[in-house]
Amino acid sequence: MSRDRSQTAFQQARRLMPGGVNSPARAFGAVGGEPVFIDRGEGAYLIDVDGNRYLDYIGSWGPLILGHAPSVVIDAVAQAATRGTSFGAPTEAESELAELIIDAVPSVEMVRLVNSGTEATMSAVRLARAATGRAGIVKFAGNYHGHVDSLLVAAGSSAATLSVPNSPGVTGGTAADTFVLEYNDPAGLEALFAEHGERIAAVIFEPVVGNMGCVVPTAEFLAALESVPRAHGALLICDEVMTGFRVAYGGAQQRLGIRPDLTTLGKIVGGGLPVGAYGGRADLMQQVLPAGEVFQAGTLSGNPLATAAGVATLRALRDDPPYDRLEALSVRLAAGLEQAATTAGLPHTLARVGSMMTLFFNPEPVTSWAQASRCDTDQYGRYFWGMLDSGVYLPCSQYEAFFVSAAHDQGDIDRTVEAVSVVLAEVAK
Ligand SMILES: *Cc1c(COP(=O)(O)O)cnc(C)c1O
Repeated sequence: MSRDRSQTAFQQARRLMPGGVNSPARAFGAVGGEPVFIDRGEGAYLIDVDGNRYLDYIGSWGPLILGHAPSVVIDAVAQAATRGTSFGAPTEAESELAELIIDAVPSVEMVRLVNSGTEATMSAVRLARAATGRAGIVKFAGNYHGHVDSLLVAAGSSAATLSVPNSPGVTGGTAADTFVLEYNDPAGLEALFAEHGERIAAVIFEPVVGNMGCVVPTAEFLAALESVPRAHGALLICDEVMTGFRVAYGGAQQRLGIRPDLTTLGKIVGGGLPVGAYGGRADLMQQVLPAGEVFQAGTLSGNPLATAAGVATLRALRDDPPYDRLEALSVRLAAGLEQAATTAGLPHTLARVGSMMTLFFNPEPVTSWAQASRCDTDQYGRYFWGMLDSGVYLPCSQYEAFFVSAAHDQGDIDRTVEAVSVVLAEVAK
């Protein structure tokens, strides 16, 4: 499989942009090598600039639950573009997207549209601090909430991969208001609140973690998240940027039966265009400017192209829900991965919720960052390159979940499992 043109493109990009990319996870640094440059996407497939085809399990890191270039979304964006790309004035389509979100996500009574997941979490944290008059925020190690300073402490995703839990440039003062706990540790949460409860504005968490690989919450942990912060007058922020419309149409909160005060969304909600959203209890959302006093704005927020993509995606998911089919395909894929790893004799554990999953090269179940950080990432790297050369595009890090989309079919899954069996046998040698 020749990747000459990707190589040339990367050389040029590196002279122009730091590391040659506009988001670090794309650089393949964690698996040692150079990234593939993409020409286009078609359904479940990516085609690179050298003409190689890959079965894609990343889906642009989450948004593309309908696969690449689905005609419902492309047509809606093209239609919207003919009427203009931005007005800086309200449009009816924004209410349509807001209503779809509110109808879908159980705890969201009002919503504000922004341009990314990072903007959503940053704004939700500001609102929580304003509403409670407190500064402290609790997050969990390995959970990623975007690159806002106050949450870029012990973050997962490329931050975990690059071992920069605290980025240079995040001040000690900012980090001091962020408390970090291990995921799935209800006793730790209780102890922290017992000591610092009156300083804490909110707890933010991934309801199913995607950003240290897929990590599943325990029932005890979820129960503590719903009870402990509230007992101390703090809010619960459920970061559903990855899980929203992914693990169920109503997100993880619907699937797991939890009711946060605020919810952040992104990825699928924009159908592959830049959209984020935060929403929740109406009494809290009414505190956002101009209804209330908490400042938050955006020149391109509610952008007509992005809104059209979001509306088209959510309507497609609502009217013809793919979730049962995604579950069946994902069960089949997960079983195949486990079988292949077992046959190859590789210590492993697999975590899956709906169409999100991770094969960890770790003999123990992974429930926290403390355990996730003990994975054999060299083994993952060899697995990744073996799969790429077999035409399957997996996340270029052990600490990213992978996704099945509605464009995958059973033949794709079976072909993947066959390739995994060959590659893992090779990795085990
Ligand atoms: C991707 C992600 C973010 C950040 O979203 P961006 O659009 O990349 O800013 C925040 N939280 C979670 C859980 C995510 O997966």
